[in-house]
Amino acid sequence: MITDVDQIASVSWLQFSDLLWETEGVVCAIMDEVIKTRNYRKHIMKNGTLDICRACHRPGESLRHIVSRCSHLANGEYLHRHNQVARIFHQQLSLRFGLIDFEMPYYRYDPASVLENSSALLYWD
Ligand SMILES: [Zn+2]
Repeated sequence: MITDVDQIASVSWLQFSDLLWETEGVVCAIMDEVIKTRNYRKHIMKNGTLDICRACHRPGESLRHIVSRCSHLANGEYLHRHNQVARIFHQQLSLRFGLIDFEMPYYRYDPASVLENSSALLYWD
């Protein structure tokens, strides 16, 4: 159990998100680590499931393994996730320093490899 998490702040997004209730439910299940991974089925449900990751075929298909430790997902899904987050940072920095004029949805934002003005220089990738 992680004890240094701000329990109030970690659920404050529920007050202002525009997510469907089904999506909120899945996110809450992930936060509570009650997703039916093979590790969960073996150790919590105790239903005899073989705890082997369906992506990399190594032992231990836990939620943490899927989210950040699976070698099969590292160069595809994790890189994609990283780049999506980096696009958000890039766009916000570009706006803050006057390198772009307007904000667009992050999934439509295509960062220029170099943005520059008299006060800032911003590289992408
Ligand atoms: Zn894996």
